[in-house]
Amino acid sequence: MKYIIIKDDDISYFTNPDTLTILYGKILEKNKVNFSVIPNIYASISLDKTNIYYQKEGLLYDPLIHPKYRGEDEHYLIEKNDELIAFLNQKNVEVLQHGYSHEKINNLPEFAGDNGNLIYQRAVDGKNILKKCLKKNIDFFIPPWNAISKKFIKRLSQEYKGIITSSLYPFYKNLNLLSLYYLNKTFKKNYYLYKNLLIIENHDLFSKYMDTKLIQKKFNQIIDNNKIIIIQNHYWEFYENWDKLNDLIKPWNVICDSIINNEDIKIINYDELFSLIISEKI
Ligand SMILES: [Zn+2]
Repeated sequence: MKYIIIKDDDISYFTNPDTLTILYGKILEKNKVNFSVIPNIYASISLDKTNIYYQKEGLLYDPLIHPKYRGEDEHYLIEKNDELIAFLNQKNVEVLQHGYSHEKINNLPEFAGDNGNLIYQRAVDGKNILKKCLKKNIDFFIPPWNAISKKFIKRLSQEYKGIITSSLYPFYKNLNLLSLYYLNKTFKKNYYLYKNLLIIENHDLFSKYMDTKLIQKKFNQIIDNNKIIIIQNHYWEFYENWDKLNDLIKPWNVICDSIINNEDIKIINYDELFSLIISEKI
């Protein structure tokens, strides 16, 4: 049996739930989908010059912000988007916490700084915002840009069951466990249990900068090589300038159908995965 988790990042005040229903409606009829939600998004997240794709497009602000709001020196609370809250409160929707505002503080990703207490409080405040408007447990944390300070990792288990990231490398490095990182990589183990805190890696598959013809091939490789597969999407990448669907939808629909109709694949959420790992059933 293979286990698949479907996760979409960067859900915020700006998200129109219809855009999510177009992508995930079919899966949500019978299965769970995980959405990572930014509690209080900042609208003026400037871009790091290292991203050549964004530079080529001439973008000044992170495309996860709705084009209409980009550059505003304002924060937007998730609870002010009623339609989105109703969508997130549906039965099969799982909610994860994606940082606090997804901004940079002193030029560092919001959870990468040295002030452990301040960062911890930021995480707790974000969690409380989500708990106030959602009837869900918030047990998993996704640090924006996969960046997290050493001091914060050590305190995370007080609030969360796990952290989800696109690369396990910084976590093993921060915990002085790099030899274990290379060993686990050899065995294609994409998670690590650090004192009951699950640290697990995504598979990034869908990007608007990727050749759509290669996506199916890459997906097949991921399925063949892993027992636990985490598909991470960013819904805004499926829409041109947050408006019309682009070509990514075609391979996504094909892959969705293949997952739903495959009896050897079980679609689960992070909580189920956590229980399976803790009880050593995987
Ligand atoms: Zn993000």
